Amino acid sequence: MKLIFASNNENKIKEVKAKLPSFDIIGLKAFGIEEDIPETAKTIEGNASIKSTYIYNNYNVDCFSDDTGLEIEALNGEPGVYSARYAGEDKNAEKNMELVLQKLNGIENRKARFKTVVSLFLEGKEHTFTGIVNGTILKEKRGKKGFGYDPIFVPDGYSQTFAELSLEEKNKISHRALAVDQLVEFLTSTN
Ligand code: IMP
Repeated sequence: MKLIFASNNENKIKEVKAKLPSFDIIGLKAFGIEEDIPETAKTIEGNASIKSTYIYNNYNVDCFSDDTGLEIEALNGEPGVYSARYAGEDKNAEKNMELVLQKLNGIENRKARFKTVVSLFLEGKEHTFTGIVNGTILKEKRGKKGFGYDPIFVPDGYSQTFAELSLEEKNKISHRALAVDQLVEFLTSTN
């Protein structure tokens, strides 16, 4: 069964393909779409939905999309939907982390969570899957692996940051893995 993944991130596409071997997963570029779909919603759920709805409305194909954000309790859920461009349009991970550390300077409550929402359009009906990993924000960066906010985030139950865990280990417990696993479970049980 053919399923469009509304993403241009080759790593994500590869990861999902590996989990759904019986599906023909096609990324945006392979589907022939070069433009970025505008992510204008005010929530992570909204942005996930915008992307899958865009593909479904314009091409009438089964598809899914994902959107992720880091939500920090003491910052009222920031950076949240603005995680990629928190410190500016250049989407610089170092600057984003610096801004978070600066805003949390002197604040004791370091609770945070990563949230991924996957929006699936199957036969014209939308289904949503959410993966959450709770953790804490450190006072300085640790580790070189991963990407984004990984060096300042320690998942609950671990002493290492996401950037210190192996990719394999992170992918077992991550917000994205939890959401994608629900998608896989849904697709494989209904098909
Ligand atoms: P996206 O929706 O997956 O593109 O994620 C939006 C932004 O959230 C990224 O640009 C990163 O800043 C951040 N982010 C998403 N997933 C992760 C992760 O697994 N680790 C660290 N940061 C992440």
